[in-house]
Amino acid sequence: MRATVWHGKKDVRVDNVPDPQILNPRDAIVKISSTAICGSDLHLYNGFVPGMEKGDILGHEFMGEIVELGKAVTNLKIGDRVVIPFPIACGNCFFCHEKLYSVCENSNPNAALAEKMWGHSPSGIFGYSHMTGGYAGGQAEYARVPYADVGAFKIPNGMTDEQVLFLSDILPTGYMAAEACEIKPGSVVAVWGCGPVGQFAIQSAYLLGAEKVIGIDRFPERLRMAREKSKAITLDYEEVDVASALKELTGGRGPDACIDAVGMEAHGMGLLGAYDRVKQALAAETDRPVALRQALMACRNGGVVSIPGVYGGFLDKVPFGSVMNRSLTIKTGQTHVHRYMQPLLERIQRGEIDPSVVITHRLSLHDAAYGYDIFCNKQDDCIKIVLKP
Ligand code: NAD
Ligand code: ZN
Ligand code: ZN
Repeated sequence: MRATVWHGKKDVRVDNVPDPQILNPRDAIVKISSTAICGSDLHLYNGFVPGMEKGDILGHEFMGEIVELGKAVTNLKIGDRVVIPFPIACGNCFFCHEKLYSVCENSNPNAALAEKMWGHSPSGIFGYSHMTGGYAGGQAEYARVPYADVGAFKIPNGMTDEQVLFLSDILPTGYMAAEACEIKPGSVVAVWGCGPVGQFAIQSAYLLGAEKVIGIDRFPERLRMAREKSKAITLDYEEVDVASALKELTGGRGPDACIDAVGMEAHGMGLLGAYDRVKQALAAETDRPVALRQALMACRNGGVVSIPGVYGGFLDKVPFGSVMNRSLTIKTGQTHVHRYMQPLLERIQRGEIDPSVVITHRLSLHDAAYGYDIFCNKQDDCIKIVLKP
């Protein structure tokens, strides 16, 4: 089959690779109909996630049709249309019972690697380095889905791929980030990053009752989408001082909640921005926490800082004193996608949210390398790419 393969930093190719096969009784093989490139894939593409190996198949946002099933999967049949949540979860362990699917304790065969870096291991993740299992990803013609009885979500007839594909990741991710904000009537939420995750965080914050949501970025097309499709007030951080603008918008108090939908590759300005770039380039710092620092400093006393943005390792100059002395709450995590698929599907069916609004590019899987390039460099007003095998 054809699959998007990681060959090294900024080197992704569509290669011929062996077809996936059923390895375990709870596996399914899915023939992929739509797949997407995520901001998280860019961290692999740019070489910031350890544990990638030449030949790894990328992709963790995908859906398709079941074409083969292991003997133990009884709740699905050949021909079912399914969306696959990006964390791989067994459904039976302590964490799965707690609905903390992205920290399932059975699905990462390389847990020892992750434990060295993080103390404990999270779940396995499709196409996301050997630290999280080395599973082949879904930017391909076919994929093997382990624990398919809990890790393949059946789609009702009559819904298009574009309506449901993002249930695999970015829609639940934006939603979980907003849910963590403990939004009440009158709440003001600020969101750093107006990429796809930021857009869904903004829209979800409104769905959950926020009065005002402020989106922060520097790319005009992303700010425009945040205003027009997601109904945010927007700030261009190259034009205004974000900290003072947020105070001005909140009567001096600061937003009730701040969402960092940027993560480890934040664009930084000034002295601290240069400091991060140099330290990250020398591998003396794994992440550039520019947006996170701002979010922590801007949040009102006693507020919530919610962090869907991905971080990898050890962060410098994070103002923890501000967190402690001002009673902030930090909420974060890889999304527990399984938990949100059914309720968000129902919101899509009721017309409360339309995930397809973030799609700007539809490409053939064949053009994945081009897709990574324009998405990474924010060219051609690219915000979200769907690939068709
Ligand atoms: P993206 O790259 O499209 O968007 C990131 C946005 O942040 C860009 O628009 C960029 O201009 C903006 N940005 C950069 N520096 C900034 C700064 N200093 N201040 C404000 N904005 C800044 O990516 P995405 O797909 O929207 O994903 C966003 C983040 O969410 C990534 O870190 C990704 O890894 C993460 N993510 C996490 C989960 C999860 O489970 N927690 C799931 C999906 C994605
Ligand atoms: Zn993702
Ligand atoms: Zn589990």
